Amino acid sequence: MSLYVANPTSRNSIRELTNIIRNLAGMNEVKFFPVVEFLEWVLPQIDPLFSLEIVTPNELKNQYAVTYPEKHLIRIQEDVYERAFSGSGRDRFTIAHEIGHYIMHKPGTIALARSQNYERVPKYKDPEWQANTFAGELLAPPQIIKGFSEKEVAMCCGVSLEVARIQLKNI
Ligand SMILES: [Zn+2]
Repeated sequence: MSLYVANPTSRNSIRELTNIIRNLAGMNEVKFFPVVEFLEWVLPQIDPLFSLEIVTPNELKNQYAVTYPEKHLIRIQEDVYERAFSGSGRDRFTIAHEIGHYIMHKPGTIALARSQNYERVPKYKDPEWQANTFAGELLAPPQIIKGFSEKEVAMCCGVSLEVARIQLKNI
């Protein structure tokens, strides 16, 4: 269920986008995508207005991170940021997910779903599906994971086994 609808997109379009981003950052062959460094050093070059705030736990009310595209701001809970920096797959995914919102969901591209349509927002219009797909494609793209087992993908790319499985299924 999604309360919001985004402009429709597909996994293939998102894959093209993450490939462009990896190329821009000179990281198309990099297995372990340095998502924290990308956030700190590359995103401000793509968008000079970008700012990052690391906040104390509980400040975000039940969320690990929040993106405000209209304010050019991503806020991340301190412990999530630290675990991502240490290589935790789940926390790396959280950060990549927020980068996805930041890049894809600029103001005006997201609308509230009509209340009677909550159950009917198709996944390709669901901003959460789009951000999750973006995160999977950024961290574990097909050209890197081809021929790997789930475990190898998780190890090499720094993602959870669940994300490794989804990415391998969608090669
Ligand atoms: Zn989200």
